[in-house]
Amino acid sequence: MEEKLIKRFMTSIKCSFCGQHYEVNNVKVLGHQEDLWFLSVFCSACQTQALVAAVVKEGRVPKVTTDLTETELDKFKEMDKLTADETLDMHSFLKGFDGDFSQLFSQK
Ligand SMILES: [Zn+2]
Repeated sequence: MEEKLIKRFMTSIKCSFCGQHYEVNNVKVLGHQEDLWFLSVFCSACQTQALVAAVVKEGRVPKVTTDLTETELDKFKEMDKLTADETLDMHSFLKGFDGDFSQLFSQK
């Protein structure tokens, strides 16, 4: 999956605070592990920064969550400094978290 496709996809996501769609210029790809992408998005309407995890599979609609806990946010903040091992840790952590995705989406 191309980075620019991910960014384009993110423009279909609405800000969870004000409902404004994100702009492609305000989507930053932090990194990815296989199908799991980490993004930072900024809402120009309400000036809110959000961190997003997206599971992207070829030929499927990506699954996105912006409902991250503080612990998860800390992991994102540390992203730049991650070693390979730590990235794997995060990967397995988010793999475990995957079970909550359907619950999150059913709330919408
Ligand atoms: Zn907003």
